[in-house]
Amino acid sequence: MYPLSEIKNLSTLHSQKVVRVRGRVFSKKDCGRVLFLILRDGMDTLQAVLAKNKEGTPLDDYNTLRKIENESFIELIGQVYCAEKAVLACSKQSIELAITGYTILSRSVLDLPITLKESALTEGKKIDHQTFSSVHYVKRLDNRVLDLRTDLAQAIFRVNDGMLFYIQQYVRGHGFVEIKTPKLIGGASEGGADVFKVDYFGKPACLAQSPQLYKQMALIGDFKRVFEVGPVFRAENSDTNRHLTEFIGVDLEMVIDQSYMEVVHLVYQLLIDLFDALNQKYSREISIIQSFFEVPALTLPSELVVIPFPDAVGLLKAHGKERGELEDFSTEDEKLLGAIVKEKYHTDLYVITRYPSCVRPFYTMVDPHDDRYTHAYDFMLRGAEILSGAQRIHDYARLSERVVELGIDPSSIYHYLNAFKYGAPPHAGVGMGLERMLKYFLGLPDVRYSNLFPRDPNRLHP
Ligand code: ATP
Repeated sequence: MYPLSEIKNLSTLHSQKVVRVRGRVFSKKDCGRVLFLILRDGMDTLQAVLAKNKEGTPLDDYNTLRKIENESFIELIGQVYCAEKAVLACSKQSIELAITGYTILSRSVLDLPITLKESALTEGKKIDHQTFSSVHYVKRLDNRVLDLRTDLAQAIFRVNDGMLFYIQQYVRGHGFVEIKTPKLIGGASEGGADVFKVDYFGKPACLAQSPQLYKQMALIGDFKRVFEVGPVFRAENSDTNRHLTEFIGVDLEMVIDQSYMEVVHLVYQLLIDLFDALNQKYSREISIIQSFFEVPALTLPSELVVIPFPDAVGLLKAHGKERGELEDFSTEDEKLLGAIVKEKYHTDLYVITRYPSCVRPFYTMVDPHDDRYTHAYDFMLRGAEILSGAQRIHDYARLSERVVELGIDPSSIYHYLNAFKYGAPPHAGVGMGLERMLKYFLGLPDVRYSNLFPRDPNRLHP
């Protein structure tokens, strides 16, 4: 038995060698006397060739392979040889495989709901994906297992994996300890209406909207720097291209020395290093993704660009936008601001600090010199929020006052509040959505592309 080889590892160096490879039947072309079968494994394709009248090729074998359904999972044995001219239809352009044997490991049905060949037509896709609501895209998500086999999805989820890997590597390297906090909780994580309620043996409970309160409690438990990667549930009944009802939250929380800017600088460096690492390691995947969507290259700053909220409001007003001083940014405001900042500072990544207290959650540290504003910040990428954070109130008396001021029932967050009675260090942190980050880093038109089986108000399957 020949050892199993992977298509991605084959090259002209294997010429004349007999190999055993597995993959899916991507397409076949029967030219009467010769059968060309493209075998696909992930993002790699290889042309395999079978001659009808060649000695040792039973006619039955020729006919079976000729008729095999696309997407069937098969094994081929054959001799690698250098292609006379480049095989443009395949990722392996300089070699082909002369088939000497085959095994059908698992047949696919003939009638595929979406064909992989059709899905690989990038020009068509560009048009289809301008609007998420196109029937075609819904069909893709309905048949996600097949859709995941496309180069586009394969590339996206490889970059997704890299993103998770580098973030975890970076934060661990900076002393963060990974924690996992409960997703089934007895009150709303941050309050508000956007919670999925569940029946917990007859008692009311909900799915966590964020690990916020628990990661702070871990800090009070004297872990100086913690992070969590886990599911976050939001019952936001809005169908946008950047909101999911379940997403992967990447949360950091750390003790600070003098200022929340320590977190801003750490996260800024994390993003710069992350984007750089992804661009280097996943250049092939990124160029596949860019061939599907026309995405301007990401422009990153040479140094951190920080815009305090009142200045950002000033920039919007100077560009004709009528708005209140303390009003939160709408999606349109964020887009316009992104364009203004890009023009002025030549960057797609920047930070807005000092958000108004009326638009941030109860635990956010209010600016001691001006209580209209807070020590809160958001990171913006390509004109959209990719992560949000703040210094948190660490004093029990102040936190309790704030809870009452905002009309929150203290008994609903009793365990959280109580933790502060035992003394809490000054601390700050951030929460980011992995899918949101991936969307804006890659320039995807919709956040659903970056979630394996996305959940939105209209989608609970597959
Ligand atoms: P937005 O204003 O965009 O709705 P938010 O202010 O509700 O976001 P936070 O609660 O601060 O967001 O969440 C932190 C981060 O989590 C956001 O910056 C974003 O990256 C991500 N995020 C929030 N809501 C969603 C969602 N519904 N789907 C995907 N990612 C989300």
